Amino acid sequence: MKFSTKQIHAGQHPEATTGAVITPIFQTSTYSNAKLGDSKGFDYGRTINPTRITLEKNLAALENGSHGFCFSSGMAAIQAIISMFNPGDHVICTNNVYGGTYRLFEQVIKNYGIEFSYVDTSDSKLIREAVKDNTKFIYVETPTNPMLNITDLAELKKIASEKGIITCVDNTFMSPYFQNPLDFGMDIVVHSSTKYINGHSDVIGGCVITSNDEIAEKIKFLQNSIGAVPSPFDCWLVLRSTKTLAQRMRAHNENAVALSDMLSNDSRVGKVFYPGLKSHPQYETAVSQMRGFGGIISIELGSYDAAVKFCNGLRIFQIAESLGGVESLVCHPVSMTHASVPKQLREEFGLTDGLVRLSVGIEDCEDLMDDIKNALSAI
Ligand SMILES: *Cc1c(COP(=O)(O)O)cnc(C)c1O
Repeated sequence: MKFSTKQIHAGQHPEATTGAVITPIFQTSTYSNAKLGDSKGFDYGRTINPTRITLEKNLAALENGSHGFCFSSGMAAIQAIISMFNPGDHVICTNNVYGGTYRLFEQVIKNYGIEFSYVDTSDSKLIREAVKDNTKFIYVETPTNPMLNITDLAELKKIASEKGIITCVDNTFMSPYFQNPLDFGMDIVVHSSTKYINGHSDVIGGCVITSNDEIAEKIKFLQNSIGAVPSPFDCWLVLRSTKTLAQRMRAHNENAVALSDMLSNDSRVGKVFYPGLKSHPQYETAVSQMRGFGGIISIELGSYDAAVKFCNGLRIFQIAESLGGVESLVCHPVSMTHASVPKQLREEFGLTDGLVRLSVGIEDCEDLMDDIKNALSAI
């Protein structure tokens, strides 16, 4: 089956008792046994829920994986993954990782004796150099937030296979429509489904997908043991959203390609960071592993002052954290999403005070262009 068919049908069947086409919200915490010991395979709502299972199967299919697990947030999904590791293990992580991931690793997980190295994974030589005898896990975000750096997944696979290291890709920015890391031999994919997968800015959620049975068993155990599961209603909302993922992603991509072109030809804008621009340092890698470039563009406006004026000058783009919704948003990473990343690390990967991140929505492109031109004239 092709993507647009899978997004609507994978994991979904008419409901058994009524034939309802849409999977119901099974809003229940527990399930009755007809006789003692005679269950229908459902025991307790944290462990198993029919609405959640349907979403898990749907998402696994979209990522070409065999097992999917849903969580109450992207961070909960990442916590479950990192909880597979033990004190004394070493982890290599992309330096320009999502701020919340960096905070989880540095301020929570490190206290349990797991060691982290943050490297620019867009340079595979640096990954190779960072590998130690106790390296058990490589965690990569590609493209990164907000610099849009790309890690070469085929190169990463080579390094990891040689050393028997488990790999994971945070695929939030591309969504399963534009990139499927499992197809490149990655072991685990994680998403903040809060972003493109849900796409309507009304749910916080996360998911983990793998085709490795051993990893799947561990994640299932951790999902139930830690207990950060999503509500049946949230699962139902995300299920409704995945039905239009392809159409939304195409619209985000089309608008962002046009805007990145406009921005890179505007002398008031410094550097434009977008993987679809030929000037992007990893453009060739992007083309080799992604089927589109997504809806996130970062732009360098030169100073904190210019960034503030630009954000305040926008009318359609709303100033807000988060991304990947149908509505366009603008964010100033240094003061918003990435405030928990130390200044020194930020500067190392070029996240300056003048950087602004656009999450391009699916509104009319001309309206978005006018909004940006107007805001630029305010600088
Ligand atoms: C938002 C985000 C997360 C965290 O997900 P939540 O759903 O907010 O917990 C992780 N990774 C990336 C790339 C994100 O954008």
